[in-house]
Amino acid sequence: MSEKKRIGILGSTGSIGCNALDLIAHHPEKFSLEYITAGKNCDLLIAQALTHRPKHVVIQDETQFQKLKEALAPYDIKVHAGNEMIVAITSHEVDLTVAAIVGVAGLRPMINALKYSQAVAIANKEPLVAAGDLVMACAKKYNAKILPIDSEHNAIFQVFEEHNRASIARLVLTASGGPFRVWTKDHIQNATREDALNHPNWKMGPKITIDSATLVNKALELIEAHYLFQMPHDKIDVVIHPQSIIHSLVEYEDGSYLAQMGAADMRTPLAYALAWPQRMQTSGQRLDLLRMPTLSFEDVDHEKFPSLNLARECLKAGQGACITFNAANEVAVDAFLKGKITFPMISHLIEKALQNQNLMQVSDLDAILEYDKTVRTQVQTYIM
Ligand code: MG
Repeated sequence: MSEKKRIGILGSTGSIGCNALDLIAHHPEKFSLEYITAGKNCDLLIAQALTHRPKHVVIQDETQFQKLKEALAPYDIKVHAGNEMIVAITSHEVDLTVAAIVGVAGLRPMINALKYSQAVAIANKEPLVAAGDLVMACAKKYNAKILPIDSEHNAIFQVFEEHNRASIARLVLTASGGPFRVWTKDHIQNATREDALNHPNWKMGPKITIDSATLVNKALELIEAHYLFQMPHDKIDVVIHPQSIIHSLVEYEDGSYLAQMGAADMRTPLAYALAWPQRMQTSGQRLDLLRMPTLSFEDVDHEKFPSLNLARECLKAGQGACITFNAANEVAVDAFLKGKITFPMISHLIEKALQNQNLMQVSDLDAILEYDKTVRTQVQTYIM
């Protein structure tokens, strides 16, 4: 391993990618940037390349290749474009890959990164949901460490005593409850895009913010936790914790609860993953213990938010159902953000897709992506 940790970032222009670059820039003595990739946001990618000077830059949208190339021509930065190059760039050996491409689109590059990277810090939960067994098997086969960035899983990772695995009674994922926690079921029927995008605690990208409003985010996290920590779903509980201060807990058989606390600032779990197995200083928000709000906990209202129970059903049914759940949600959220469907239609579409799925064996990457595509096409027909 070189003196500095070599970093690759998949999805540098999203909220996680921007925060990761910011943290890395504050510790030039610790990190060197090998590559960054983005989907369509060419202007931001150019700005990031000029500020952070990675060795390689990849834009998925090939129509913007020329623009990227011209902007970076005077510098010693290699420029690439296209889906295949986003996968190929992960064949560069790095110490840590930050996987932050939204949605199942991040699956193929993540799998390849597991082969060539010492560790992969996973911010996007969809690949784990759609291909949990495959991702975990690849990590084992190629001896890559998986570091969760999702705040709940990062919290559990910090307090999970692997040597006491048999003594773990349960994992408890906390959920803020999203913007509609105190809304009535009727009121939620008429929620607008703006209402749903108004998250009370976390500032995140649009897809995950909508997922927080439906609580699908927590449902995906339940599946994510099942695979990451290899725990059965009935040993994973969810509680609403509106203050988002305790990020999750592990309960042990002796009655001890180990929790991780912190401000609702993604820079903390990100810094943990970047510095692991050490820790590093960040300029992220701090908790003021003396001025902290009272911490409260509530049960989930499954009537209003059916997605958590659906996720448990999917885990019982197998990988195909998890793929269906995730793909239907991605299509539905996209349609909602474009104003094509109402808010309650998101969970209706997921339920409909699950009812109509024909469960097949899906284990290898191509079969997973093919199945994912079939579900998406099917759910599109429900919308039109
Ligand atoms: Mg989370």
